[in-house]
Amino acid sequence: MISLEPISQREGPRDECGVFGVFAPEQDVARLAYFALYALQHRGQESAGIATSQSGHIIALRDLGLVSQVFDEPKLQALAGDVALGHVRYSTTGSSAWENAQPIYRSDRREVALAHNGNLINAVELHSDLREQGVEFRSTSDSEIIAALLSTNEADTIEDAIESVLPRLEGAFSTAVMTKDSLIAFRDGAGLRPLAIGRLGDRYCVASESCAFDIIGAEFLREVQPGEMVSIDARGIESRQVVTGERRAFCVFEHIYFARPDTRLEGRLNQVSRRRMGEVLWREAPVEADLVIAVPDSGNPAAGGYSQASGIPKDDGLIKNRYVARTFIQPGQELRKHGLRMKFNPLPEIVGGKRLVVVDDSVVRGNTTRQIVKMLRDAGASEVHLRISAPPIRHPCHYGVDMSTTQEMIAHGRTIDEVAEELGCDSLAYLSLDGLYEAIDLPRETHCDACFTGDYPLERSDVANGKYALEELAVVQA
Ligand code: SF4
Repeated sequence: MISLEPISQREGPRDECGVFGVFAPEQDVARLAYFALYALQHRGQESAGIATSQSGHIIALRDLGLVSQVFDEPKLQALAGDVALGHVRYSTTGSSAWENAQPIYRSDRREVALAHNGNLINAVELHSDLREQGVEFRSTSDSEIIAALLSTNEADTIEDAIESVLPRLEGAFSTAVMTKDSLIAFRDGAGLRPLAIGRLGDRYCVASESCAFDIIGAEFLREVQPGEMVSIDARGIESRQVVTGERRAFCVFEHIYFARPDTRLEGRLNQVSRRRMGEVLWREAPVEADLVIAVPDSGNPAAGGYSQASGIPKDDGLIKNRYVARTFIQPGQELRKHGLRMKFNPLPEIVGGKRLVVVDDSVVRGNTTRQIVKMLRDAGASEVHLRISAPPIRHPCHYGVDMSTTQEMIAHGRTIDEVAEELGCDSLAYLSLDGLYEAIDLPRETHCDACFTGDYPLERSDVANGKYALEELAVVQA
């Protein structure tokens, strides 16, 4: 039987979304958004969209697929304007249906387009309130709730509307909003997801990650502060502190895995932080071995750090096929056991007869890791020692990452030895929480590490707001 099944290009937990916005009347803003989204593609591969303002109206073009599949030259040329907003999505709430692609457009009282990265933990409550007021929804994503609150708000300016709406939102939201002639970005009071400001000549842009600025020749200025609203238009850039969170809680997983290695977070280049994670991991969990190999690509920097600190040589023992399509025809039962070879292929000449240290940055379900261990043994490795440059993932994320059920996590309810047995490796060690913060050289108090510790930084994080909560609600209300 042939089935079409979506797979992620990346092996770890699924990212949330990528957001980009630019105000630059003298430039081809849609093309800038296209290239910026291209740089942010790793943050979401289900859908892509760009909105621009033209002749006083906002037009939004969005569809399922990768940025390069959704847009072509004629579409970009149709998207003229002074300001552009872009989004790439992986669904953390709502299904991957077309209606849930972003930017979301609404024109209840004022025209807005909105791009959101994060997850509202009071989405069900806000959705019910708005429905009671007669507000209709076209999608089942929590992002449309923010768009609807802003579009229906009676304040005279979009800034005042955001100022009145933002305190009602609970959870994670790094958001960019576009009106006909301005771009506004704001972030939740804890600053859970990233959002940065760039300068392009004498104009400004915002993006989830600084790597989006590099590709369009913009200069990284600073991060949007937790609870801050930044307003960008013909007059330049203005900032207002709208809310002050009880504590900062930036997602530490962005440092470990989500953000690209060439992105700067909290003043640190990820590639450097990840190498240090590997160095600390060697100090915490040394092992006698002949060769260090990475699970490519995400394990590369930490494997480099582990090798450098230990003096054990590093080589490429696993080759990754970079061209595995997001949707491909599954091989069927008989060939299924070979399925992973479509993504990874071990090199017997490199790993044969060797005691291997295999470095990866995280393990969620463990299926891929288990198959990699077996594959390396089949290729002749004499020992396989797994070293993971993050602590064990044992708790769900409620803030915009698709790790919502503990049952699917291999480390949940298991000791490290039990996980090692499940994975079939000779030894297994994870980076400690202290080691992680030592590697990024930042304090734990200003970060979220709930998926490792169960210590949720926001109140009410245990509220049932599953990925499909709004779809379930829509069914009940229909
Ligand atoms: S629970 Fe984990 S993935 Fe989610 S925001 Fe916190 S650190 Fe990031």
